[in-house]
Amino acid sequence: MLTDKFGRQITYLRLAITDRCNLRCQYCMPAKGIDIVDRKELLTYKEMYRITRVLSELGVNKVRLTGGEPFVRKDFIHFLETLSFNDKLKQINITTNGALIAKHIPTLEKLGINSVNLSIDTLQADKFKKITRRDVFEETIQTLEKLLASKLILKLNVVVLPESNTDEILDFIELTKDKDLAVRFIEEMPFNGIGLRKTNEVWNLNKIYNEIKKGYKDIIPLANKKSSTSQNYKIENYKGSFGIIPAFTRTICHDCNRIRITATGMFKNCLFDDGVFNIRDFIRNGASDNDLKKLFISTVQQKPENGFIAETNRKNKKVSESMSTIGG
Ligand code: SAM
Ligand code: SF4
Repeated sequence: MLTDKFGRQITYLRLAITDRCNLRCQYCMPAKGIDIVDRKELLTYKEMYRITRVLSELGVNKVRLTGGEPFVRKDFIHFLETLSFNDKLKQINITTNGALIAKHIPTLEKLGINSVNLSIDTLQADKFKKITRRDVFEETIQTLEKLLASKLILKLNVVVLPESNTDEILDFIELTKDKDLAVRFIEEMPFNGIGLRKTNEVWNLNKIYNEIKKGYKDIIPLANKKSSTSQNYKIENYKGSFGIIPAFTRTICHDCNRIRITATGMFKNCLFDDGVFNIRDFIRNGASDNDLKKLFISTVQQKPENGFIAETNRKNKKVSESMSTIGG
């Protein structure tokens, strides 16, 4: 089993399928995009499958597939199918911008995908184009509607962006009135390929919550699932729920059960570390499954207590990579 030196058991892998993306969200990357790596530097599906299988033999039972945009990589659906044969995985979840996926939703249902986190930061077409620098609002809304009509659990990821979408926080809460979905407001992090943005406003968990309180008196706190990344609530008599993810203020580290593997095979114990081991090279140099297991067990031992310590320990001090490189 994978247990760190603070007694936290690692059961959740976030795996980046690619560093490529069809959008250029302002908070994630510069307008010209990021310097994508050569294709041969990306983990192959076979390598990803093997890494996931070995981790599942060590107790990982939940995988989130992310990126970049997972659906831009050729044969992603086929990879999902292969992964779905691993019965040690209780949940396969996907984070996507949704622009390319409407037609795949029946297949995702058939494969038993548990949930889809759809990233959508605004409900206004013009603003959407400004934030993502691409004109795919209609496609994203179509995906949202199809996901709602499907069996898949639907969560909306909304990065709270000062001077951009904070005026829509209550509109997003209103979506939960008659729709069975969970809206999750995410604190913005400096993972945008540049670093901290210049703004006087900081929208952290408290500020987001206070904004919601201005609109609603009857906010009901929900019991948080163990290792949940969000603090969850609902409005009385509303069908859906909402949550706030303190991604930047990092008050969720004490029972973290997560590890990450980037699209190039870099193992990360924490979103804020700068990568502790390149598994791709280890595999390509002939590592056996046993070697991999030993490596995972010892690497997890180095998991820092929290994201602030991870940030302090970085060799490259500036926290500025794109989330698309890391795998969000
Ligand atoms: N392309 C997919 C998508 O957008 O859903 C998956 C990858 S994306 C990097 C994963 C999540 O990270 C998205 O919900 C996105 O909104 C979030 N994200 C990206 N950059 C961020 C930042 N600087 N701060 C907070 N969240 C961010
Ligand atoms: Fe692409 Fe997702 Fe980053 Fe937007 S947040 S640029 S959709 S990887």
